[in-house]
Amino acid sequence: MPEKKAHRGYVSSVLSCRCPRCREGKLFQNPLGISLKKNLMMNKFCPVCGQATEIEVGFYYGTSYVSYALTVGLSLATLAAWWMIIGLSVNDNRFFYWMGFNAVFLLTLQPWLMRLSRSLWISWFVRYDPNWKVNRPVDVSERMNAEQANNW
Ligand SMILES: [Zn+2]
Repeated sequence: MPEKKAHRGYVSSVLSCRCPRCREGKLFQNPLGISLKKNLMMNKFCPVCGQATEIEVGFYYGTSYVSYALTVGLSLATLAAWWMIIGLSVNDNRFFYWMGFNAVFLLTLQPWLMRLSRSLWISWFVRYDPNWKVNRPVDVSERMNAEQANNW
């Protein structure tokens, strides 16, 4: 039987915060919103294939580095765009206007960036399984400690 291709590729699966194993199920419980707490509430397991979304204690601890890198990357991108469209000069305040713009821009994107960091992070540890319907997800229960969940 020929393997069925996922209808979502890696990038669109990461950007839409889908389970990296089946690329179908949603990682997060709620639609993207303004409440930071609700925003980061994750499904414990992928609702489609059963993949655990937290595969060891403190799994998402490293996402702060991802989020940092994304923020730096976006800032460089807006700076480059600002430079090309509006221009930069040492003789006026255009650089400071960019800083203000960039701060508002990043704050607006923050809820999505926090999700994107987690989505990227888990995509580096859980591989896509084209046969996810047949295979079972890796059992990670021994790596978890319910008492220590969400404890950082
Ligand atoms: Zn899944």
